[in-house]
Amino acid sequence: MFPAPFKKLIDTFSALPGIGPKMAERLVLYLFKQDERSVQDFARALEALSTLSRCTQCFNITDRELCVFCRDARRDGTQLCVVEEPLDLIPIERTGTFHGLYHVLGGVLSPDARTRGETLTIAPLLERVKRNNVKEVIIATNPTTDGDATLLYLKSKLLPLGVRVTRLARGLTTGADIEYADDLTLRSALTHREELT
Ligand SMILES: [Zn+2]
Repeated sequence: MFPAPFKKLIDTFSALPGIGPKMAERLVLYLFKQDERSVQDFARALEALSTLSRCTQCFNITDRELCVFCRDARRDGTQLCVVEEPLDLIPIERTGTFHGLYHVLGGVLSPDARTRGETLTIAPLLERVKRNNVKEVIIATNPTTDGDATLLYLKSKLLPLGVRVTRLARGLTTGADIEYADDLTLRSALTHREELT
């Protein structure tokens, strides 16, 4: 019914999370109606994504070898905050209370897919702690079943290394993602973090 490029773009949009076929059609039609320059800008922005990569130290998104936090000499390298995904850094940074470095896991351990653990950056995290004189690891996984399971697993691996391990205070509602937590709640959760033993 539609030319191949139009159909292909609809299929591409449909494959994105949370976008059904109807929404994909609407988005592609919207783009089609834009002037040539806007469409080219959109294409260039999309293409630029492929020039980005993971920070070789903390696995945050970066356009260089090290991300903006790992490059910043003013950050305290003895304190690490472990998060599930790069988007979780944003609300934590916004609180202005954390001045250490981050470590992005790339997801959580899931009982349904134990092998997924291998794709997480747990081994590099343990290496970092051993090598870089890290004194405290704050585990800031989301307060979900899988997030908590990951936290317990990390704790079991980190404590034997002689590092202090803490978690965010339980002010965060169970099931609520850190990504959506408000500043005040998160600041309090960071300040009153709990010691794991
Ligand atoms: Zn980094």
